[in-house]
Amino acid sequence: MRSVKLGKIMGIAVELHSTFVWLLVLLVVALAVFDPANLLAVLVLFFFLFVSVFMHELFHSLVAVSKGTKVEKIVLLPIGGVALSEEMPEKPMDELQLALAGPMFNFVVVAGILAVVYAFPVLPWPWHVMSAGATAEALEQAVMRYPLFGLFWVNLVLGAFNLFVPALPLDGGRVLRAALAMIVGFEKATHIATKVSQLLAIAMAIIGFFINWILLIIALFVYFGAVYENEAVVTRETLRGVSLHAIINRRPVTVDAGQSLQETFDEMARTNRLAVLVDMHGLYGFVDAGMLSSVGKESWHAVSAGSIAKPLPAADISESAAAIIAKMTGKRLPMLPVFEHGELLGIVEESEINKLYALTKILKKL
Ligand code: ZN
Repeated sequence: MRSVKLGKIMGIAVELHSTFVWLLVLLVVALAVFDPANLLAVLVLFFFLFVSVFMHELFHSLVAVSKGTKVEKIVLLPIGGVALSEEMPEKPMDELQLALAGPMFNFVVVAGILAVVYAFPVLPWPWHVMSAGATAEALEQAVMRYPLFGLFWVNLVLGAFNLFVPALPLDGGRVLRAALAMIVGFEKATHIATKVSQLLAIAMAIIGFFINWILLIIALFVYFGAVYENEAVVTRETLRGVSLHAIINRRPVTVDAGQSLQETFDEMARTNRLAVLVDMHGLYGFVDAGMLSSVGKESWHAVSAGSIAKPLPAADISESAAAIIAKMTGKRLPMLPVFEHGELLGIVEESEINKLYALTKILKKL
């Protein structure tokens, strides 16, 4: 699913996940038809949710950056966000602090609002729902009618849900993994945390099916998020200490940006490759079979390789194999140029990485 780019803060790209947009559209339409009186109140709540999720993720990212981890982007989802980075924190203590930072922001807002309403009793505040006997309906009404209470509630739910559900990729799951990692090591901890997360997701899905469809969606997010997290760790641990030197293609098939697509195709056919490196003068890109076939064969002579090539990010040979592979697989790139002291050393190809991974896996299991 696509995300909408919102901008950049401290070098971190901020994106709004499409589910956030769809939920907003769905809510507006549903409310306009069935409950127009509450439309404005719900929009205000939605805005609070957006700001709170953003700040929650920003706090995670700030801690990550302070630990020396590069955060690539923040994706905002209606139930929380994800701060994506190519690396994961290595030390359990770092992961613990990183996981706690987001919910802590929400709880500081909750505590701050409480302090303000206790200090200024004149502020509009639904005191009647603060007691244990308040009904769900009264609570819903209060959230709609008192904006300050709405902000309080959004942060309370966000913080509590993310911290107290011990399932990856939620913060609670990261706390669980960090705690386990201190005893059994990172890889085993991830494995156990993944199993716990999947069981919780299945339980959530069953409860959600009968009670609340939002829980069903969250269950799916948790289930597949945990699987993804586990795979990323297995890949990283498998490739730990493995050198890319052996699989670097030092004489990659290269075409110049100025060469025509006909020449590019001829080169691909001659060397039996589905993708070739394009020298874009100071930058490298690639052209693959799919991109070629999207341009009509009759205009191959008139179009240059450089005009359709997709630019490739650069990797340095000093980076870990796992980090370089994460760069490629995350963006589904067929190859990556690898540099040494600023000079092009060669390229790493997806097919070679798959072979390296398969071989390493056998070796580590023996
Ligand atoms: Zn979080």
